[in-house]
Amino acid sequence: MVGLVLVCHSATLAEGVAELAAQMGGQSLRIGVAGGLDQPGNPLGTDAVRVARAIEEVWSEDGVLVLMDLGSAVLSAELALDLLPEERRDRILLTEAPLVEGAVAAAVAAGLGDSLQKVAEEARGALAAKAAHLTASPASAAPDGEPRREVEPATAAQAPTLRISVESSLGLHLRPAALLVRIAAGFAVDVAITNLTSGKGPVNARSLNAVATLGVRYGDEILLRASGPQAQEALAAIGRLADDNWGDPHSARSPGDEGAPARRPGPADADAAQAPPPASGAVLQGLPASPGIAVGAARPLRAASVAAPEDPSEDRDADWTALQRALAATGDDIRRARASVAGRASDHDAAIFDAHSLFLEDEELLGPARAGIMRDGKNAARAWADAVAAAAVAWETLDDPYLRARAVDLRSVGDQVLRHLVTAPSGGAPQVRPEAASLWPRVASLDAGAAGLEPGVAGIVVAPDLTPAEAAGLDRAQVVGVACAFGGPTSHGAILARSLGIPAVVGVGRALLGVAEGTPLALDGEAGTVTIDPPAATLRALEDRRAGRARDEAEAQAKAHDPAVTRDGVLVHVAANVAGHEDVRAAVAAGADGVGLLRTELLFLETDHPPTEDEQERAYRAVAEGLGGRPLTLRTLDVGADKQLPYLPLERERNPNLGLRGIRLGLRHPELLCAQLRAALRVAADHPLRVMFPMVATVDEAQRAREALEEARASLIAKGAPVPERIEIGIMVEVPAAALMVEAFVPHVDFFSLGTNDLAQYVLAADRGNAAVAALADALHPAVLRLIERVARAAAEGGRGVAVCGEMAGDPVAIPVLLGLGIAELSMAAARIPPAKQAVRATDLAAARELAAEALAAESVAEVRRLVSRRG
Ligand code: PEP
Ligand code: MG
Repeated sequence: MVGLVLVCHSATLAEGVAELAAQMGGQSLRIGVAGGLDQPGNPLGTDAVRVARAIEEVWSEDGVLVLMDLGSAVLSAELALDLLPEERRDRILLTEAPLVEGAVAAAVAAGLGDSLQKVAEEARGALAAKAAHLTASPASAAPDGEPRREVEPATAAQAPTLRISVESSLGLHLRPAALLVRIAAGFAVDVAITNLTSGKGPVNARSLNAVATLGVRYGDEILLRASGPQAQEALAAIGRLADDNWGDPHSARSPGDEGAPARRPGPADADAAQAPPPASGAVLQGLPASPGIAVGAARPLRAASVAAPEDPSEDRDADWTALQRALAATGDDIRRARASVAGRASDHDAAIFDAHSLFLEDEELLGPARAGIMRDGKNAARAWADAVAAAAVAWETLDDPYLRARAVDLRSVGDQVLRHLVTAPSGGAPQVRPEAASLWPRVASLDAGAAGLEPGVAGIVVAPDLTPAEAAGLDRAQVVGVACAFGGPTSHGAILARSLGIPAVVGVGRALLGVAEGTPLALDGEAGTVTIDPPAATLRALEDRRAGRARDEAEAQAKAHDPAVTRDGVLVHVAANVAGHEDVRAAVAAGADGVGLLRTELLFLETDHPPTEDEQERAYRAVAEGLGGRPLTLRTLDVGADKQLPYLPLERERNPNLGLRGIRLGLRHPELLCAQLRAALRVAADHPLRVMFPMVATVDEAQRAREALEEARASLIAKGAPVPERIEIGIMVEVPAAALMVEAFVPHVDFFSLGTNDLAQYVLAADRGNAAVAALADALHPAVLRLIERVARAAAEGGRGVAVCGEMAGDPVAIPVLLGLGIAELSMAAARIPPAKQAVRATDLAAARELAAEALAAESVAEVRRLVSRRG
């Protein structure tokens, strides 16, 4: 642990600051003081020998940070270095940080085990919050009509600021706040945020709790003030996040949200005995949360209460260590849950777990928990539970119902940590348990039957509310539906249930909790109703609908591993779009014939440094191995526009979709592209892997990309590394120029893959992420179809392969049209593969060609859809 030394003219001042810092950094922190002089009648001053002694006292290999007040303190500290052994000097840093704020910030960082550099950085940035507080006030909000966002450059006196009007419809809820915190943490910077509209703040942008409890709602104006060497870059990156609607889809808030109950259910809510049982035949109206119909017996979810013991700490250091272990174990649980959800649903759905991970590092929780143990002598579980409860109350008092509801996420993570600390849920003598024994007992109980589920008997889980961890742990074989008394359709539990394909209804009301174990229920995830002990007629109608749906799904799944062959015998290659090896298992289980699009950017977006060639090689190899010999198309890094790399700060662009993205960025940063190509080539030496370049607009770009590949190959050969004899390369056709000039590309590439998501947005000049115009960017528009036809024809004539990997490839409506246009290779999200294969099997190619010809001549998307449905 880094040691601290305080050099002051006054011994009293040094002791006082040390006392304050020690309270923040915990008992194991080492602080040395060198204050005042040993001269009677002349006690004020500094002495190099004392400074050197203080450094020796707190010395460790991790280094020592020295903070000074002024004048001769600096000279004495410099002189002290000369008095110390030479080999130690480069582990001692003298910092210009302010004495009091710097010491406190450094103590916190050192107490967390940060490196010397990080501790020094924290100390240096310690004035940011005070500066922001004294300079930002509601009065400084932009008057109407002023630009929405403004970066003020740094001056000698003032840190740069960024003022943003938050236009995301949900405000800065958990996920956007987490993205913001990650960005702030990715730069050498301190960012203080103030909600100018409410006057709340400033708070530290590195704390998720602090940011979220600013209660930033749609339309609020926030002020970010950054200090530190990368202040401008950090603000630019945050500006880009705001431009990207804070990472949310553009119309994330559903109209029903406002009315959705948003408070955390209290103990009375969870107590089923207090709610009278609803009558047989009663239809309880809630909010649709996940489509589908479920009929089954009620299975009330009984929460194992996690009671933190009151006993005082017997060993404060041991308690602090136990808490840290529990936090680490919970972090592992969350990472596993994230991987599970990303594999079964989508990465966007899984992103909520990133926010959960941030809770585990949040100084707004760790600080009070540490103080609870070290200062107040509480045991680890009690200190943690109190810190979580205080933070959750802050969330629950926010004005915005959506943000208020996020307290559930915080409490859920808090409980996960407690379960790692406490073995006896209630009563008895709780013990501290250092290692994680199981993943969320409450969730595991769903699988194991302790919540009333007989193994093998499917049921409808009835709960006050469902946390994301609980939703992630639902076992599809045991849980046919979920009904929640509280919560809204945008609660993360509901989002996850939806993405896992489990029908769900939320906000049903307290009456639901009175339903007895085993009561027959019928749940309609589209109408948002739960029928208690449904009459035979209701049951029959729902059962018919459910059975029809289930039959289709089961039939598709049963044939998922069969080849997709049209009625007239043409084989269509149906592959998966994946983002990493976690997705591959789901893809193979869904019957993927290979991976048609590996979006490698996730690997780059998830780290705080450019992944090394070896890291990439391992990641790509894992994907290839998971495919067991099936072909893999690896797309090189496609960042820029909506996807920004934290460690590659790019200029703010007025029009990022038309800016430096895809291959343009790769060619501008050849070191990134070449490392990626070398990693790909190393894997291609052993597996069927081909490389695809995104966003290619000109032949010159395709040629330069090929040259980069050749260079990468030459450098590997020079090192004696195995490389494949030959590797296929292709381009994404997603820029209209490439589609129109496709013949010119034929000599330079082996295959084409149509990125119809981007192609449609560029052809129709409609931003695919802007809800106001996104509907225009429909890839079934005849203008897009004409380009697809052109590319398919030129590719066939030139003997080149052609695929479609945009969203339309998995749309059963679009599939006959695409086949009719000459496409025989489709790539899509894993879950869409079984129904897409069925759509191929239902297609007669001769009829599809006629349909495609009519679609090409159609005037509108609507006409194309009419043509398809008439033939279907
Ligand atoms: C596309 O643009 O259609 C495509 C598949 O790429 P992405 O969605 O990753 O931009
Ligand atoms: Mg694209």
